[in-house]
Amino acid sequence: MPFSDVTLRDIYLARQRIAKVAKRTPLAHSPSLSTIAGSEVHMKLENLQVTGSFKLRGATNKLESLSDEERERGVITVSTGNHGRAVAHAAKALGVNAVICLPEKVARVKLDAIRALDPEVVLHGESYDDAVEHSFALQKEHGLTYVDPFDDPQVLAGQGTIGLEILEDLPGVDTVVVPLSGGGLLGGIALAMKYADPSVRTVGVSMVAAPVMYHSLQAGKVIVMDEEPTLADALVGGLGDHNQYTFRLLQEYVDDVVLVSEEEIGAAMAWAMNDAHLVVEGGGAVGLAALMAGKVENLGQRVAVVVSGSNVATAQLVEVVQKHGG
Ligand SMILES: *Cc1c(COP(=O)(O)O)cnc(C)c1O
Repeated sequence: MPFSDVTLRDIYLARQRIAKVAKRTPLAHSPSLSTIAGSEVHMKLENLQVTGSFKLRGATNKLESLSDEERERGVITVSTGNHGRAVAHAAKALGVNAVICLPEKVARVKLDAIRALDPEVVLHGESYDDAVEHSFALQKEHGLTYVDPFDDPQVLAGQGTIGLEILEDLPGVDTVVVPLSGGGLLGGIALAMKYADPSVRTVGVSMVAAPVMYHSLQAGKVIVMDEEPTLADALVGGLGDHNQYTFRLLQEYVDDVVLVSEEEIGAAMAWAMNDAHLVVEGGGAVGLAALMAGKVENLGQRVAVVVSGSNVATAQLVEVVQKHGG
């Protein structure tokens, strides 16, 4: 059954809705990464997005699509940090009350940035999946609207706007390489690409440490895994007990998913800093890491890689650059 829950029109509608809150990010050609990868590589710089990650696109589109009554009651979400910050930012911009649920071990730099936006913050549980359970309970108790970090048609359409921008800036793109956790980013971009031309290859990249979507796609069903420590903290967490959209969407539209090690992620963060002078967090660097390590096959001539976030503590980045910077 073709995926019809998000149409190309939904993605164009999203673009109009988010234009005042999220910015159009640059697509920057990288000569040195092109040499390493053996294809012309262009980086979609969502690390320069307002709030430091692409998550602002989906969150803003979701909040813009709420009814007056839903806006009045407010929203709730769960996050490893970047989505929470995006929802808090969009909620503030649109005058909506937001509750942001986070696991207790959320990266400090992300928590501080969320708190600065003044939402109601709830820290709960050891793992991301624990925080998800708690956010569902709060949502029911208070009658709030749930803003899922990935498994929502409006969120997918919002992330899909990145695909439109890549197509405009690099119409001949052969392969798009995208960081992958729950699949909102990859799913939205894959939809935009496949609507335009089904021959464009879409490739997801996750970390070796507990890549839930990767193993779920291999198993043909959504599975649950225990979290493992990783530099890519933004990619940690499960797909939810009732995944409705992203798993099915990726099964249908994504050509390949590859994995990168902690070493490879560290090397990519260091390369981004030293060579491209870009601050990139671990989760944002996995696409770069896959290209640097030669993990993506059939790249073709023109490649776009999404650099998805920049929210990393300076001290951690310095440590990683010293360790992996050569
Ligand atoms: C959330 C996030 C991802 C993964 O997005 P999904 O839609 O969950 O697959 C990638 N990179 C960064 C920086 C993120 O915050």
